[in-house]
Amino acid sequence: MLMAQSATSANMTLAFSEAPHIFTDSLHPRSMPEITWTHGDDLCNCTFQRIGDWSNPYLGLTRRVRVCCLEQRMLEGNEDLVQDIPGYFNENTGQFETEPWVWDGEDDMPEHLFMRQTAIIQGLSLDETRVKFEGVEPPKGIPRPKVVKEKVIMSEHEVIGRQVMRIQELEKQTNALLKVIHSIKSGELDLNRIELQDNGLTINDEDEVIGEEG
Ligand SMILES: [Zn+2]
Repeated sequence: MLMAQSATSANMTLAFSEAPHIFTDSLHPRSMPEITWTHGDDLCNCTFQRIGDWSNPYLGLTRRVRVCCLEQRMLEGNEDLVQDIPGYFNENTGQFETEPWVWDGEDDMPEHLFMRQTAIIQGLSLDETRVKFEGVEPPKGIPRPKVVKEKVIMSEHEVIGRQVMRIQELEKQTNALLKVIHSIKSGELDLNRIELQDNGLTINDEDEVIGEEG
């Protein structure tokens, strides 16, 4: 048992020491990078720019991985495992759309996206496009009209006013019911004349209805 354990431990140590993570001391990075990568920074020519971001405030550390470039490097020699499709699959129609969409975003079209779209439309490389279209403004955003939800805002006085009215209504009903009880007790009102309803009662041969809201 002890033998087996130490053998496993030795194997694990060997594998661990060979792992590529030893190339960087990610626990103790010493300097801030000159440029921190962000999505859309256009610092590489990858079609789809992707930046992986891991951070934790309790460690005070951030790791950013240029996933797009890393993927590019990994795929070198493995091009047979990549499909670059000349179309965008629209899930609503179930078909590939081969024409790039006209910009319809609320914000202006991001520069990195504009350059790539222009390169595709013009049949140019990204570097050629950057030179040829330098200073050309990307399409402007179209702000959508803001839907203002109508909301009834009552002041404190209005709320209290409504509550007071409700209390007065309930008091009126209570008084009316007491009057009925008194009338029954004194023999002025026959129980048979009282007809119960969902929200109150009616006294037959009389106009009085108690408990119903006007
Ligand atoms: Zn990249």
